[in-house]
Amino acid sequence: MNNRYAKLHKHFLIIMLMVTAFILVLLVLQYYALIRVDARYAGISQSKYLKTYILIPALIFSVTYTVVWRLLDSPNIEVQWKDFATILYLWVLCTVGCFVAAESSVLYGSFAVPISLSTVYGRKWMCRVTEILCLVTVAQYVGTAQLFPTCGENIEVDVCTAMFLLVLCCLCNEILMEYVLDNDGVIRSHVNDNSRLANKLERDPMTSLYNHTAFYDYLDTFVRNRDDAPLTLAVIDIDDFKKVNDTYGHNNGDEVILNLARVLQKNCGENNYVCRYGGEEFAVIFPDVKVRDAAKMMNTSLEEFRETQYEWTERRITFSCGIFQMSSYTMTAEEFFRVADKMLYNAKQNGKNQCISG
Ligand code: GH3
Ligand code: MG
Ligand code: MG
Repeated sequence: MNNRYAKLHKHFLIIMLMVTAFILVLLVLQYYALIRVDARYAGISQSKYLKTYILIPALIFSVTYTVVWRLLDSPNIEVQWKDFATILYLWVLCTVGCFVAAESSVLYGSFAVPISLSTVYGRKWMCRVTEILCLVTVAQYVGTAQLFPTCGENIEVDVCTAMFLLVLCCLCNEILMEYVLDNDGVIRSHVNDNSRLANKLERDPMTSLYNHTAFYDYLDTFVRNRDDAPLTLAVIDIDDFKKVNDTYGHNNGDEVILNLARVLQKNCGENNYVCRYGGEEFAVIFPDVKVRDAAKMMNTSLEEFRETQYEWTERRITFSCGIFQMSSYTMTAEEFFRVADKMLYNAKQNGKNQCISG
């Protein structure tokens, strides 16, 4: 949900540049079309018109546009302030537009645009502030619009009508806001459900390590996308585990499995993938780790695992491990696994309780 309106902000900048340019062109055209025929413009000199109706608005628009553009471009500004900046720019556009075209009181309706945009962003405070800002701006035209010679005669009636319509717009937005927030909640809960489900699909419920499917998926992905960085695999099997189960029971056997999961997670580094791909068979994928460093981590794990004291036995429980760094670009994931597994087999043949690497 970080900056879900980043694309909207970009489009906003383009559209606003076009709208601003369009307004300025209209003001120039108005000069040539109206100033000669409309009696209200009769007293305005050319230089006064240029200053009041073109230069000042153009200056305000370009300063505001530059500030908003800078804000939207800055990575350090919070998204909500970026959203609010776009609303404020629209508000400036409407405010200046209504001042310079004081005879067209229909323009008061344009304040519905920032109000509606504030609803789209889905933040209640922003919606409220925008509504108040727009209503107050329209209300003050009763007093200040008189300053403009082109102001309509029925300014109070126009302002009241505009206020009434804008209040209706605000009420509709309140309803829309509820929908926007409801939908946000639904989307957020779907995203959570999906990530929970994805997590369930790739984790072993007992140890929370990557399961059989995830192990082969990751191994395949790393082998396929391999570059010059080393890729190492360790395959681990608990020694004489059948005896542990038979002598001390399945529950105590589970405790040993959980202990090995903990030891491997603790010693194999955050960036590596500890997996339980079988009952008492584990594997660790080490992307970007050389065989020597992986062997060090596995030997530390073996030592800690071997030293663990269980309440139900004095016996030391150990594991055997085969570690192999991928040597050829043409090797498939299956071949890679087979070589590491062969080393595990050698470790078992060699008397167990050891790591063999190659
Ligand atoms: P080796 O040293 O050659 O590996 O001998 P081993 O007895 O460990 O033989 P093997 O690796 O084939 O043992 C697998 C045993 O692991 C068989 C099965 O009962 C046990 N096992 C598999 N999954 C679980 C589990 O989730 N919990 C428990 N308690 N035991 C399990
Ligand atoms: Mg086994
Ligand atoms: Mg075993």
